Amino acid sequence: MFNIIIFGPPGAGKGTQSSKLLERYELVHLSTGDVFRSNIKGETELGLLAKSYIDKGELVPDEVTIAMVEDFLATRKDAKGFIFDGFPRTISQGEALDKILTKMGTQIDVVLALEVEENELVTRLLERGKVSGRSDDQSEDKIRNRFAEYNGKTEPLLSFYNDKNILRRINGIGNIDEIFGNLCQAVDSLNHPSK
Ligand code: AMP
Repeated sequence: MFNIIIFGPPGAGKGTQSSKLLERYELVHLSTGDVFRSNIKGETELGLLAKSYIDKGELVPDEVTIAMVEDFLATRKDAKGFIFDGFPRTISQGEALDKILTKMGTQIDVVLALEVEENELVTRLLERGKVSGRSDDQSEDKIRNRFAEYNGKTEPLLSFYNDKNILRRINGIGNIDEIFGNLCQAVDSLNHPSK
């Protein structure tokens, strides 16, 4: 298997670039945000619980998120690999992911971290909110709260992965294809046999 984490703050372009990457490298996409949103739409118990956090711009608790990821991976054991988008978002999620993947006989090969400055991100998210109608993109307060969560809980994962020597920092400003080109270059330089 070949497994990628696409990493970055809200609005950095993780979803957009994931769609392009999974096509190029034939990977299965796991966006925890998308799974939560589809559960909210389907009014499941998980959706109801997740909504109470998402609407405030807070992270859904680790136990809930990790259990959901474990279920998702268990049903897709034949995949060539995964692209993790929006997961992990805390050190405990990162540690749990390592354990789950080890049990599956695989590991994270690369963490692609998109770097975009915060004010640019707020502008992007407010614009996205007008088009997507996403509840958590509707007010600057909610957006700022998501950044506080990112800075406090998610950013520490950068050193977690840097210490494992699998972190690649990518400039997330520019046009979509340019950024995609830089991501592919980082992946292709890995020379992984199953890529
Ligand atoms: P996203 O679509 O990745 O921006 O996620 C939207 C929202 O879903 C986040 O602001 C969180 O409330 C929740 N969420 C998504 N992924 C996770 C995760 N890995 N851990 C906790 N909460 C998450």
